[in-house]
Amino acid sequence: MQEHEIDVVPGRCRICGDSAPVLRLTEFNLKVCEPCFLRFLERRVRRTIEKHGMIGEGDRVVLALSGGKDSAALLFALRRLGVVMGFELSALHFHLNMGDYSDRNLVVVEDQAKAAGVPLEVKRISDLGLQVRRVKGWHPCAVCGAIKRSLMNREAKRLGATVVATAHTLEDVLLFTFKNLFSRKFYVPQPVLPASGELSRKVKPLIYNHERMNLSYCRLKGVPVFEERCPEWTPRGHSFKDVLEHMEEVMPSSKLRLLLSLQEAIPAGGDLHEGEHTACESCGEPTSQSLCALCQLSNWFARRTDHDDSYNGV
Ligand code: SF4
Ligand code: ZN
Repeated sequence: MQEHEIDVVPGRCRICGDSAPVLRLTEFNLKVCEPCFLRFLERRVRRTIEKHGMIGEGDRVVLALSGGKDSAALLFALRRLGVVMGFELSALHFHLNMGDYSDRNLVVVEDQAKAAGVPLEVKRISDLGLQVRRVKGWHPCAVCGAIKRSLMNREAKRLGATVVATAHTLEDVLLFTFKNLFSRKFYVPQPVLPASGELSRKVKPLIYNHERMNLSYCRLKGVPVFEERCPEWTPRGHSFKDVLEHMEEVMPSSKLRLLLSLQEAIPAGGDLHEGEHTACESCGEPTSQSLCALCQLSNWFARRTDHDDSYNGV
């Protein structure tokens, strides 16, 4: 984690002109003092929100809060912006039923929400008989993703949210796009998915933010960050981040320029809530198949005769 933090060196802030320790933002060819950096990041988030019409006055925003640096930074940035832009903010955390790891994760999330003064809802997937583990050849991360996506939609509706905010970063979106391009799928995740049927609008206010900025923002604000790796994490799939880092080293700002170019080159489309346009036969939630992912997984876990409630992935 440490290697991703922004260098702090003596210098003069390019924004306020003070001589002070400054952060070297090579991505923007900028050196800024710590207070100006905090405002710089919040302004970038606000510009992204306004540019794409992500959130308006009176919206009820629910943020998916994992406890990591990205969602923690977004929590604090949105908390500030909510006051000036006139929207409500609450946070939603999924306890993933992975033993002590998930319990420690929850402790940090509760600290973050308390420090931000933002109401927090916690949903335990164990209450639904679910677990994050390999299912019928699905990798645990695919199971985890399906559970979180489905629950997010359900919980957003239950909480009366008009907007669901997620902390996908510039690197996340580039990685996802690369994976698609390698399978000849020409698709870039969009900053906004409009509301559709019962599904709330989904927004990615950090889509133009580098991850290391989010980490530095948390560090400077003294925000606790959950830094343990998930027991299911594997380097496979994330190693392309190293390629992105190398590219950025060779050409500062290249990640952002690449995303902007891809957005221009690949027209938006096909990004419609993953085609969730029919009702699940069991629960009535939007889905693209007869049963939604959550009901399919619930049935699978319920059918297992050797079902074991303890988490064995650690
Ligand atoms: Fe879920 Fe862990 Fe995989 Fe992330 S690494 S998707 S939290 S199982
Ligand atoms: Zn269902």
